[in-house]
Amino acid sequence: MEQVTAKPQGWIGVDLDGTLAEYIGDMSYIGKPILPMLNRVKKWIANGREVRIFTARAGDEASCEQIRIWLRNVGLPELPITNKKDFSMVALWDDRAVQVICNTGEVVMPPYNRGDNIQKTREGWRAAGVSQEQFLAGVDQLLGGEPERTPPAAG
Ligand SMILES: [Mg+2]
Repeated sequence: MEQVTAKPQGWIGVDLDGTLAEYIGDMSYIGKPILPMLNRVKKWIANGREVRIFTARAGDEASCEQIRIWLRNVGLPELPITNKKDFSMVALWDDRAVQVICNTGEVVMPPYNRGDNIQKTREGWRAAGVSQEQFLAGVDQLLGGEPERTPPAAG
């Protein structure tokens, strides 16, 4: 990874359905927390980072109230809830995102990102010769925080 010395401040966007909470196709309900993601968010907050819930649900006040209750129930503070990106957003974690390399249109990893082929995703990481842990430590460095030390659950 390229050496970057600047430590940008700013907020990390975290999608709700399918990213921080299990999504089972029912928008009237918010699923169980996805623990690796929940723990990551708690660590960011403990390290003083700003995290915003980035969700299409943000347009609806009743949904926002439902999210605030859910956040309390899973032990998170009252995080901002938004569907708006701005120039201070330094990262977006989202189960639908396909990451491209800046200014190239090149896709970073094969987009096995709909949760339907986690095995192929793991094979992709192995083929790349880098662990998710190493990759995330690099991302964390770019964002100016402590490297993530929790290894992925499996694979
Ligand atoms: Mg989602």
